[in-house]
Amino acid sequence: MPLKTPSDYIESIRSLNRIIYMFGQKIDNTVDHPIIKPSLNAVAMTYALAQKDEYNDIMTAKSHITGNIINRFTHIHQSIDDLVKKSKMGRLLGSQTGCCFQRCVGMDALNALSMTTYAIDKTYNTTYYQRFLQYLEYVQNNDLVCDGAMTDPKGDRSLPPHKQDDPDLYLRVVKELKDGIIVRGAKAHQTGAINSHEIIVMPTIAMREEDKDWAVAFAVPADTPGIIYIYGRQSCDTRKLEKYTIDQGNALFGGHEALIVFDDVFVPWDRVFMYKEYDFAGHLVERFASYHRQSYACKVGVGDVLIGATQTIAEYNGTEKASHVKDKIVEMIHLNETLYCGCIACASEGKCEQPGTYMVNTLLANVHKQNITRFPYEIARLAQDIAGGALVTLPSADDLYHPEAGKWIKKYFKTKNDVPTENRIKLLRLIENITMGTAAVGYLTESMHGAGSPQAQRIMIARESNVKEKQQLAKRLAQIIASEE
Ligand code: SF4
Ligand code: FE
Repeated sequence: MPLKTPSDYIESIRSLNRIIYMFGQKIDNTVDHPIIKPSLNAVAMTYALAQKDEYNDIMTAKSHITGNIINRFTHIHQSIDDLVKKSKMGRLLGSQTGCCFQRCVGMDALNALSMTTYAIDKTYNTTYYQRFLQYLEYVQNNDLVCDGAMTDPKGDRSLPPHKQDDPDLYLRVVKELKDGIIVRGAKAHQTGAINSHEIIVMPTIAMREEDKDWAVAFAVPADTPGIIYIYGRQSCDTRKLEKYTIDQGNALFGGHEALIVFDDVFVPWDRVFMYKEYDFAGHLVERFASYHRQSYACKVGVGDVLIGATQTIAEYNGTEKASHVKDKIVEMIHLNETLYCGCIACASEGKCEQPGTYMVNTLLANVHKQNITRFPYEIARLAQDIAGGALVTLPSADDLYHPEAGKWIKKYFKTKNDVPTENRIKLLRLIENITMGTAAVGYLTESMHGAGSPQAQRIMIARESNVKEKQQLAKRLAQIIASEE
């Protein structure tokens, strides 16, 4: 059965031979690196839950190409039920890890490519879809993590790719060979890049004919020669190097991003899924973006953790019965479940597109992601309100465990008699982690900019809503239509 165990997964990442920089040094062993390891653990959870009977309905699916049971992260959605389960899977994993578990981008890239390769073939009589299916089977049978690499550095935002002073600021084809192509450029902010087996590259914007050298989609193994990774910093990241884990808040799990540089990388033809068909760049971008906007179901799961932490800290502090605290918890739940409504709705209202892939409702997926750019900030604000100022004034774990200083911390940070001060500190550190530490990358800023910044969703919302029809409804009831006709 093509389902890897978490340890199979971790060992398969260990065996990759890559060039990775962090803090000015080359990192050979990412798997045991204290800063990277929590993010690897979060991806490993996508394997661990797929092994559990209680979750296999959500975490696994039947491959439409082989009939094998596969991890849902490698599945092409074959029904509305698949789309709904994808949203539920996001919430589940967010709630189990309290962070970004990184694997959604590859799933969304595969699903978008299933439609775009098919559409290009219909227009240009190419064979991209067959290539894609072969690649998909390889990914499914080996239970791989794919990085969906879309975001180019973009240089001067007012200029299209071909007008940039440095043409590499959008990833492009630099040479065509008999057996493949050479590509150059970079992809920025790549979630989970260091924990991926494969990198799936897609264009970042709709393109015109002058930009056709930039209209390229392909997949390469993560350790292909010429690929260089530069690890992204996160707020409070070096706490992971400290002696005690308590100040990390969530020492088990985390996310990461990296810059991926493609320094003249060779891609064989059987891994190329778009080659200069510039008129399909927008097709791929829109489908990937809508799927990924649905994927922000993950934040509902992280919200579950934050609500649980906030209720607990209120109880530890003895404030849980105050009416405003109760009301703020209700507000957090209301906002979080409203987010859940969005990711379930865009899945439930999805539809079948050629060649049989189910696509989310794009208007609702964009509305959902627009809510994601806002509500987690408000949920985080309420969590900080209830947690109190100690959230940002707590002494370090070194002081907590110091024979002299520790006794004062234990005495003066004590709340209820039956609550060990250490437990209160653990909860405060978890809230700190989600609302301003390493996990805040995922819960807040990634919520803002991941899968496209807020304005990108507003453009889609404007395009996808039928305002004319709404005007007709209003005019009919106001009895204007008859008088205008
Ligand atoms: Fe998946 Fe959410 Fe992380 Fe994006 S932010 S990769 S949707 S877990
Ligand atoms: Fe993301």
